[in-house]
Amino acid sequence: MPIIRCSDCQLDLSVLEDLTNGEPWQPCPNCGSMNRALSVSDALTVRILELVGTTQRRDGVKKWIRKTLQGMRQDRNGRVVTIERVMDREADYYRELVVYEDDGSIEVDKTHPLTEHYKHHGRVSNRASDEWVRG
Ligand SMILES: [Zn+2]
Repeated sequence: MPIIRCSDCQLDLSVLEDLTNGEPWQPCPNCGSMNRALSVSDALTVRILELVGTTQRRDGVKKWIRKTLQGMRQDRNGRVVTIERVMDREADYYRELVVYEDDGSIEVDKTHPLTEHYKHHGRVSNRASDEWVRG
């Protein structure tokens, strides 16, 4: 079970957030930071894996216009992947790249219109998340 902390103020957010659902998270309740550090421990090693998400909004518009997620995480088999994801409503753009750190093999490499993504996966909040972290 990874321990999730705010990268900036070190507040433990493990109970508040589930980064495994693929949803970009809320700002840190303490300092407002969107940066997170994940501590993943196993029998031999402790690694710090960082995922950094951004959400862009525009004044007066309720919905976000662009979200990004970038960093490293461990899949359920313990392999470390680097993740790069961009969702851009205005440009109608969806990009996802997931690469295994150990041998450089590509797990996911997708670029398509964001509207296509919604068509296939429904809202980002449900099953799409499993797919992009599939291990
Ligand atoms: Zn914080």
